[in-house]
Amino acid sequence: MADVESFTLDHTAVRAPYVRRIAVENGPAGDAITNFDLRLTQPNEQEIPTAALHSIEHMLASLLRDRLTGVIDCSPFGCRTGFHLITWGEPSVEDVAAALADALRFIAEEATWDDVPGVSAVECGNYRDHSLHGAKEWAAAIAAEGISRDAFTRTV
Ligand SMILES: [Zn+2]
Repeated sequence: MADVESFTLDHTAVRAPYVRRIAVENGPAGDAITNFDLRLTQPNEQEIPTAALHSIEHMLASLLRDRLTGVIDCSPFGCRTGFHLITWGEPSVEDVAAALADALRFIAEEATWDDVPGVSAVECGNYRDHSLHGAKEWAAAIAAEGISRDAFTRTV
């Protein structure tokens, strides 16, 4: 089986919440694509409940595109401790962390149901499993800790 960088990370050594650049890959035409680890909770200590994570996912899909150029995809980890962010080009960790921090602040302080896109049966694969209340509580707690620019040493 192929080696996957994410599984070589020592999950006991990181200090969440943080943004970590996992890798930059270049396609055959030379385009760069960057993969980031947006770690919101401390691995093996806390995980975001599915409904809250699901609503955070739907909101980040719009909020990160509003704050960063080149967003391709932002999808939750199966362990429910954070998200992969895939972008065109090579945005800096600093810019991604600032965008994530502001998106979480928005979710915590301002978001209403009108700000959660795609929550109908037509638009979502499990539309009953959303929690705006949970999303706001988790976003507030994560934002209050600050988003570190380094995975191993808190740099907020
Ligand atoms: Zn959904």
